[in-house]
Amino acid sequence: MTLLDRAIARTLPVVPKAIVRRVANRYIAGETVQEALAVVTGLNARGFRATLDILGEHIRRLDQAHRATEDYLNVLEEIARRKADSTISIKLTQLGLKLDTAACFEMTSRIVQRAGELNNFVRIDMEDSSCTTDTLRIYRELRRDFSNVGVVVQAYLRRTVDDVCALDDLRPNYRLCKGVYVEPLEISYHDMRVINRNYVFLLERLLRSGSYVGIATHDELMVWEAMRIIRELKLPPTAYEFQMLLGVQEQLRDIIRAAGHNIRVYIPFGRDWYAYSVRRLRENPQLAGYVFRAMFK
Ligand SMILES: Cc1cc2nc3c(=O)[nH]c(=O)nc-3n(C[C@H](O)[C@H](O)[C@H](O)COP(=O)(O)OP(=O)(O)OC[C@H]3O[C@@H](n4cnc5c(N)ncnc54)[C@H](O)[C@@H]3O)c2cc1C
Repeated sequence: MTLLDRAIARTLPVVPKAIVRRVANRYIAGETVQEALAVVTGLNARGFRATLDILGEHIRRLDQAHRATEDYLNVLEEIARRKADSTISIKLTQLGLKLDTAACFEMTSRIVQRAGELNNFVRIDMEDSSCTTDTLRIYRELRRDFSNVGVVVQAYLRRTVDDVCALDDLRPNYRLCKGVYVEPLEISYHDMRVINRNYVFLLERLLRSGSYVGIATHDELMVWEAMRIIRELKLPPTAYEFQMLLGVQEQLRDIIRAAGHNIRVYIPFGRDWYAYSVRRLRENPQLAGYVFRAMFK
């Protein structure tokens, strides 16, 4: 990222929402489930798997969590009706994690149970570090009754290696990512070289221990490291998949697919697009160009 991109990333909160929306459109599959499923089926036709995320997090009232639960149940029905190749990804704060953890567990169980009945799978996204312990605890509790649920771990957190050791007995289905929230140095690595090394260290450990891993990255170096480990361990394509976000590094995505690996595209949609869009834009190395183009269009 250039200095200008970094400066704009810092001022994003004061950039008018209409501009943010215009620039962020590439990362979001519309506002409705119909729009999102149109994107899913388009990607499926080109050989990509999908996972659908209904945007919205850190709700204020429990009735919003109940509504989100119904929305996710509806998405599961729609996926089944259209026979689409798509799982769902959920955020526990959207299901009331910060308001009532017992209610959050109940709602998450309902979603995972219905997904199981429809032969589908639920990935629990990992949010900021204030959610990590509760998210992993809820994941462990869910695994008592369900196997069609997986969780995300973040390579930038110092605790992650201990977290995955503690979950070893469950042999979880993981998504491994670098981590996107701004966290203090006491609990997270800030040096990108360390984050990358930790990513590779964790990936090798998870794959060696027999976990299925969603290798979530757009970083060509991480992709190369993953392919090296896959080759060394002689892993079949059923042991892992690559995962990328909608609208990011599409050329690399095509190259990985063409090399015979499975790829899942993470597809967010919905009316609450703002927080997600800001996170994506902050990571875009050509942020300044996009913002300026959107302003003068
Ligand atoms: C499928 C998926 C699910 C995720 N789930 C979570 C989660 O649950 N919790 C969480 O904390 N994080 C999640 N993330 C985000 C992740 O933690 C990283 O913040 C993000 O993927 C960037 O890291 P990277 O590995 O791509 O490497 P980076 O080094 O950040 O990026 C590598 C290269 O990718 C390109 N790139 C990256 N982002 C963009 C962008 N927005 N626009 C244009 N180019 C870009 C750039 O060229 C960059 O140089 C997820 C990521 C993916 C792919």
